[in-house]
Amino acid sequence: MDRLGLYISFPFCRSKCSYCNFASGVYAPSRMRQYVDRLCEEVAEAAEHAEFLQSNLPQQVDTVYFGGGTPSLIAPDDLERFFAAIHDKFTLTADAEITMECAPGQLTDDLLAVWLRLGVNRVSLGVQSFIDSEAAAVGRLHTSEICRTEITRLRDAGIRNINVDLIAGLPHQTMDSWQQSLDALLQTDVPHASVYMFEVDEDSRLGLEILQGGKRYRAADVPDDESVTAMYAVACERLNTAGIHQYEISNFARRGSQSLHNLRYWLRRPYLGMGLDAHSMLASKNGGNEAMRFANTDNLDLYCDGEPYLRPERISELQALEETFFLGLRQNAGIQPKQIAAQFGTAAEVYNDTLRELVAEGFLQIDGDSIMLSHKGRLLSNEVFGRLMECSAV
Ligand code: SF4
Repeated sequence: MDRLGLYISFPFCRSKCSYCNFASGVYAPSRMRQYVDRLCEEVAEAAEHAEFLQSNLPQQVDTVYFGGGTPSLIAPDDLERFFAAIHDKFTLTADAEITMECAPGQLTDDLLAVWLRLGVNRVSLGVQSFIDSEAAAVGRLHTSEICRTEITRLRDAGIRNINVDLIAGLPHQTMDSWQQSLDALLQTDVPHASVYMFEVDEDSRLGLEILQGGKRYRAADVPDDESVTAMYAVACERLNTAGIHQYEISNFARRGSQSLHNLRYWLRRPYLGMGLDAHSMLASKNGGNEAMRFANTDNLDLYCDGEPYLRPERISELQALEETFFLGLRQNAGIQPKQIAAQFGTAAEVYNDTLRELVAEGFLQIDGDSIMLSHKGRLLSNEVFGRLMECSAV
């Protein structure tokens, strides 16, 4: 019997970071209470929505992930009533992984006490850079000292499952400063790290400035693509050497500390997203590999006014097969062709020629019954995925 993962988006921030392309912003505190009211309603309506979309909603929940925005801004009493709403409709397994994203500097004693009481057992800290001037340049409100103190406090409180996010490609970053950030991360001895390469797109103020020109967000000080790729490669090497092994393109963990919630996205296990711009995927009642995907609006006013799920999309057998390839190859464990053939039958054969070519060209490698991205393939993963996509378009 499938179990469910819950994702809760909390789009409120103290300030807007220049690199951020999420649906988040700085809103009046009064909106937070109204927002949590709506979240509680969403929990109560979830079964009805799933039924309407002809999809299965598992009742047992084994991962809960509060993302943002900045979930560490949720007031303790709001968080308690939201958990009460979850417990009313779902059963959290005894070993459920419950993750809270946290902006360093926001962890009050009251908040920590409530998190522990509610079962939060994993915290993801948005550090981005341990170099104070780099963090400040993109609008982060913390220092490296605050990050270190916060990690110690979490550990002292009994939360050892801690992730630190870093971004390669921030303004003023150099290979030297990146190495210092990696030094600092390794010194904290956290068991999990996420390393992202800054994405240049028009959805962030810094990205837009890079595309259109300007000086406000220091676009001219952003390292070039080659430097960012080199930083990412150094991070992979140093984290792996330190025993924090890469298990997905952006994610690294010590044994037993992988993010169970994020794994469910890559393994195509069901998840229900609640809140602004949250996405969901549930198995279709039609059975087989079919699924339903749907998303919430990214407009806060519409969301708070009760706008129901938008853009429901039925994922066909062939789309499910394509996703199995792409999401599987994001992971270092790769894909298992025999398992895919057993699940999807002869439809999977359409990829065979391209897989062989990508192996011959060194983008993919074979290990026993598995095929995975090589180091070169990981650096050029968009090219690999593009080639595989052409197969399913034929
Ligand atoms: S990066 Fe995080 S804290 Fe910064 S604006 Fe985006 S969601 Fe908010």
